[in-house]
Amino acid sequence: PTQTQIGLMSHEELVAEHERQSHNYARLEAEKLTLDLTRGKPSPEQLDLSAELLSLPGVDDYRDASGTDCRNYGGLRGLPELRAIFGELLGIPTENLIAGNNASLEIMHDLVVASLLHGTVDSPRPWSQEPVVRFLCPAPGYDRHFAITESYGIEMIPVPMHDDGPDLAKIAALVGSDPQIKGMWAVPTYSNPTGAVYSERAARELASMPTAAPDFRIFWDNAYAVHPLVEEAAPALDILGMAAEAGHPNRVFVLASTSKITFAGAGVSFFGSSAENLAWYEKFLGIKTIGPDKVNQLRHLRFFGDADGVRAHMAKHRELLAPKFALVLKILEDRLGPSKVASWTEPKGGYFISLDVVEGTAKRVISLAKNAGIALTAAGSAFPYKNDPEDKNIRLAPSFPSLNELATAMDGVATCVLLAATEKALGK
Ligand code: PMP
Repeated sequence: PTQTQIGLMSHEELVAEHERQSHNYARLEAEKLTLDLTRGKPSPEQLDLSAELLSLPGVDDYRDASGTDCRNYGGLRGLPELRAIFGELLGIPTENLIAGNNASLEIMHDLVVASLLHGTVDSPRPWSQEPVVRFLCPAPGYDRHFAITESYGIEMIPVPMHDDGPDLAKIAALVGSDPQIKGMWAVPTYSNPTGAVYSERAARELASMPTAAPDFRIFWDNAYAVHPLVEEAAPALDILGMAAEAGHPNRVFVLASTSKITFAGAGVSFFGSSAENLAWYEKFLGIKTIGPDKVNQLRHLRFFGDADGVRAHMAKHRELLAPKFALVLKILEDRLGPSKVASWTEPKGGYFISLDVVEGTAKRVISLAKNAGIALTAAGSAFPYKNDPEDKNIRLAPSFPSLNELATAMDGVATCVLLAATEKALGK
């Protein structure tokens, strides 16, 4: 392992270090790896935890507690019992939570489109009739959020992300003065990709701050609400209650899903908001569909039983995930700690670790890794327009590979980081 800070090395030491890492890299290339650290997918072992779902609800089980025949059309808001379970976990009253189909991303997309075409309940006109629509994008953030706003020509303004939420002073200044800022993306719990958890103060300020736009919306994507990697889980903040209390009852759209609880892409999504917002959404939803897949909702209901059932299930995920995160952090510390060429987050939950390498070398690291058979998330992915202004951020997704694969891949990534850092220091 490298024992010296690269920034403190003499030219000769640097040349020697570059030589050493070039050798390491040549060995890595010779291994002809095919490893993938790109997307936050559950591993096969995690999916096995929900295997029982494949035989639920069973041939004789198709009615919920209220007697609804889940095999038939209807029930636009989804099964009340399942909504109650996730309402408890998300801190949302059942009547303010809709259970939908397989993807919360689809709901977010539809909310943006409905706001563009029809306007929200507080909009003077549809967003599409505004001269320009802007969204605040805490960054690094979730690439697919940014893809939605970019695809509809919504201008994205990056906002720095801290450990306890985004830069609130900057947000307050922006939303307070620019009426074209209509929305903001947020991943409040174990955020993608830094693992940041919004503090209660951050939530309260976001829910209550004055905005120049009367129809400002926070897309509160609580995708990792029940996904701690440690014993003590972050509490679900009552963001809807905070907004209502502050006189902005319609400000917040809450999203969640079971994609990383049961089967990714074959679970149940949730949308929580004020009564007025839900009624607004239901108008479009009812045109789009006659009702959600209630059989899928019923099997999830049977599988979980209650909110404690979800918590117990998530503890099993944690047993599989925590060692992978610990391994990645250990390799980062062992290989990159002493050389001081990188920093990284140590998330207490979620699916990602955010790695910052030497400024101006993230693209190079990712291309070196790719050439050695290690797929990393594309450079800049976590920023609006895929533009990482400092070219230093890399999102690591430890969940899918086995522990052995992960060790090999991360050791390879560390070599690429060191090689790129010495190249840069030598002006190569
Ligand atoms: N939001 C965040 C922050 C995510 O990281 C992901 C997926 N990995 C999603 C939403 C996607 O959720 P869904 O499968 O419900 O569309």
